[in-house]
Amino acid sequence: HPRIGVLALQGDFREHIASLTELGADVVPLRRPEEIASLDGVVVPGGESSVMDKLSRAFGVAEPLAEAIRGGLPTYGTCAGMIMLSSRIAAGIPGQQTLDVLDTTVRRNAFGSQNDSFEIDIPMPELGEAPVHAVFIRAPVVEEHGPGVEVLGALPDGQVVAVQQGNVIASAFHPEVAGEDRFHRRFLDLVHAS
Ligand code: GLN
Repeated sequence: HPRIGVLALQGDFREHIASLTELGADVVPLRRPEEIASLDGVVVPGGESSVMDKLSRAFGVAEPLAEAIRGGLPTYGTCAGMIMLSSRIAAGIPGQQTLDVLDTTVRRNAFGSQNDSFEIDIPMPELGEAPVHAVFIRAPVVEEHGPGVEVLGALPDGQVVAVQQGNVIASAFHPEVAGEDRFHRRFLDLVHAS
């Protein structure tokens, strides 16, 4: 069984641990830098990216984790996790940093307070025939991405909400709270292939 670490400093790491356990992975919470070397893959959960950023730097996890991901560690981030992975943030709080492993600019809280949570079915042929039931909670969008980034999903108006760049997958929504397992399966396929 592959050993997956879920960054467990803040946010909905329990839901990711449950989703991955259901798929047969050996899942551990990731809180310390020395735990990274034993992992075959890592998940960065949803939550509050500015807090996750501060805690991951305070615990000394941010830098070694970014290095491991740059070295090819399969990675999946949802919502705040997508923000953490992105190289550039629009509407971050002052001083907010990221792991800088995904060539995207993401806008935090892109849907504003009028519409800060919603659910929608989005066709994503890369994930299979049935549309993905996407749950958005104070979600970001990908405003801009480099040529190495593949778009996996976009809203009907064209706003990009799911991407992959090599070993890094990211979604602005939360499959882990929607009973949608195809993103976690795609991530575990990367783990098995690497
Ligand atoms: N709005 C949060 C942030 O900026 C993300 C919300 C979420 O992860 N559901 O980090």
